[in-house]
Amino acid sequence: MTDNSPRKINIKEYSLEEVKQVLQKWQEPLYHARQIFSWVYKKGARDFAALSDLPQPLRDKLEGHFTFFDLRVAERLESKDGTVKLLLAAADGNSMEAVSIPTAKRTAGCVSTQAGCKFACGFCASGLRGFKRDLTTGEILDQVFLLKDNSPGRVLTHLVFMGTGEPFDNYDNVMKAIRMINAPEGINIGARRITISTCGIIPGIQRLAGEGLQIELSVSLHAADDQVRSRIMPVNRKYPLPALLEACRAYAKNTGRQVTFEYILIRGLNSDLRCARKLCTIVKGMNAKINLIPANAVGECGFEAPSREEIWSFRDFLAQHGVHVTLRRERGTDIQAACGQLRIKYER
Ligand code: SAH
Repeated sequence: MTDNSPRKINIKEYSLEEVKQVLQKWQEPLYHARQIFSWVYKKGARDFAALSDLPQPLRDKLEGHFTFFDLRVAERLESKDGTVKLLLAAADGNSMEAVSIPTAKRTAGCVSTQAGCKFACGFCASGLRGFKRDLTTGEILDQVFLLKDNSPGRVLTHLVFMGTGEPFDNYDNVMKAIRMINAPEGINIGARRITISTCGIIPGIQRLAGEGLQIELSVSLHAADDQVRSRIMPVNRKYPLPALLEACRAYAKNTGRQVTFEYILIRGLNSDLRCARKLCTIVKGMNAKINLIPANAVGECGFEAPSREEIWSFRDFLAQHGVHVTLRRERGTDIQAACGQLRIKYER
């Protein structure tokens, strides 16, 4: 017998307005929409049976049309430093990673936007097995919920889109998820505490500038000239550095927001003072910050971090030349926290 019933949809795919539209179609009172939202987003319900102030027939209808979660936790790893990494499995066999990273004052959640990645950056594990598919809005929000549930004693204060995949290659689903993360009736994390990280998709940067959202933009730069950047980031051939920098300049100017450039320091490739000097030149005058990341060694890639001395002299050079620079602390290295490492192990 074939099942002709339509596929159930994750309840988190729907905005408050969309839930109201469903209730209207079912000829149910619209005020139930707020009750449903409150159970899902505020009161910690994890299935429809928990929605105890809704009439049973409505709960049954919800159950028949919606899922509560589309992802399940396949593996949970906790680092000595409190970093929690989840390997999450979708019903179709795809998997993705989400991480929560606590520090003294905040806990940042890091979520994936795609299963696999098309962009094949040379230093990153995410693209090693190619691209599988975009994640849905519901799957992106599931990750936030599962991180909350699996980081006991912690409140997620920040959220970064720095897991597997390219957010601007799945623009609509990511943006809808961000609106739910930001909405007071949703997860309610302030826009300035949400960061999108891109490998440099110029049309995405331009589109984001028009959203009227105060979210943070990070751009994975990793090199200060086209030659080195194209070597490690094939996307640079499509969106070369001068055009990318121009788009970032326009973004900063039009939104009044600072852009963060991520710069992985890779031994023997982009970490000498000649590169530091070039980097100073290309960001000059821009409302920008540079975040240095010592490369996490990804076995199959053959890239590693420079020595501590080289890292610090690179940092100091930038600071001495008036560039706003930070150095990312390594977290969760004992639980394979570099992009895509856990998923690679799982899918092998
Ligand atoms: N596609 C987006 C988001 C995913 S990558 C982007 O490119 O920004 C998130 C961040 O992790 C990027 O800055 C990426 O360059 C960095 N990253 C990937 N592999 C890494 C490694 N081996 N060591 C350190 N950082 C890495």
